[in-house]
Amino acid sequence: MAKTKKIALHTKILIGMIVGIVAGVIIKQLGLDPETLQTIIAWVEPVGQIFLRMVFMTVIPLVFAALVMGIAEIGDLKRVGRIGVRLLFYSLIVSSVSVFIGITLVNVFEPGHSLSPETRDYLTTEFKDQSDAASQNAEFAKERTVGDIVTNIVPKNPLADMVRAFDANYTGGGLLAVMFFALIFGIAMASVDEEKTVTLKAFFEGLYEVVIKIIGYAMQLAPYGVAALLFNLTVSVGASFLLVLLKYVLIVLAGLAIHQFVTYSIILKFFANRNPAEFFRKSSEIIITAFSTSSSNATLPTAISVSINKLKIPKPIANFVLTIGSTANQNGTALFEGITVLFLAQCFNVELSLMSQVTVVFLCILAGIGTAGVPGGSLPVIVTILVSIGVPGEAIGLIYGVDRILDMSRTVLNVTGDVTAAAYIQNIEDKSEFKSIGLEENP
Ligand code: ASP
Repeated sequence: MAKTKKIALHTKILIGMIVGIVAGVIIKQLGLDPETLQTIIAWVEPVGQIFLRMVFMTVIPLVFAALVMGIAEIGDLKRVGRIGVRLLFYSLIVSSVSVFIGITLVNVFEPGHSLSPETRDYLTTEFKDQSDAASQNAEFAKERTVGDIVTNIVPKNPLADMVRAFDANYTGGGLLAVMFFALIFGIAMASVDEEKTVTLKAFFEGLYEVVIKIIGYAMQLAPYGVAALLFNLTVSVGASFLLVLLKYVLIVLAGLAIHQFVTYSIILKFFANRNPAEFFRKSSEIIITAFSTSSSNATLPTAISVSINKLKIPKPIANFVLTIGSTANQNGTALFEGITVLFLAQCFNVELSLMSQVTVVFLCILAGIGTAGVPGGSLPVIVTILVSIGVPGEAIGLIYGVDRILDMSRTVLNVTGDVTAAAYIQNIEDKSEFKSIGLEENP
């Protein structure tokens, strides 16, 4: 019997998106009475919501496990010495540049502000409860002093913050406090005698893997979820939102292109002593793998082998920098998250104070450590950031339909960013030195 060819998930998501939009446009054209339309919308609604909830349920365990492990790894890095510290600083500086590019573009072009009043009304009604609470919180936030905000980030009871993390009426630290607790936990874990934390480390590694599996299940539902979300959106507001969405997509792609071709080229030319065009050409296999898998983790083996064999980066540096970098250095993701959060805030008319914008930048840089290197790894992190600045977490549903292409593109940046970091570190390291800090010559 001939085996039927399996359709790739991203193709299915694209089909889901088209089906949702086309069906929505058709139903809208039929001119049904509002009651019938509402009934149809109510029937379709659960499909989209179940998909979103599958993503939501991973947020707390994922943020916690990924941050604890990321920090614990950096703790190890410190022990191996200079390379670790250099990678950490490199990562922080280059991620900040990428977030800055993204935030500048989204502030200049303001894609979310081109939303028609009709669409904005729909969004605020659709997410009424969350929006009301969010604006209440925003009001409340205006009265808070910087001291209050900072104090709130330190949780009194981290479990309370976890339980009420998606509760828009909650005025405690919420997800930010959970992240803070994870950071402290990770730092403490890295400084405790290693023998004593073996089981704990294994536990977090296990937790991380299980959560990633659940994200995988959620991705399987994505084509249906996306179809349902876009169907309801198109039935309710027509296809006008799609133009706004297109503007947003183009802005993300432009930001990614600037970071890839300008920032990385400058680093390669001036800090790594490489010819950028040749470097990118030799990295083509890495770029193709990252683009087609949408996963930094899945691209790791290709990245290591190409770096060693074609880019001539010494094995110890390639192994070390690329492995840590695949989870802890994600420039494309940081750039994308900054644009997306501000775009959605614009869609919901949430005015962000300077303090909130600074929070977004800080969280996006932190997201470089807290985002899993798997397809859609950003989504739970974006929910986290949205909630912390008073935008309903469910708003993520608006961009989900177009996320795959953005995911493929930002993953390319994440991985080429790691390889660029490895070339930079190779350039400043004397080969004889890394032996002395305990890096193995063999993989
Ligand atoms: N897919 C990305 C990666 O693996 C993570 C993300 O931004 O969703 O690098």
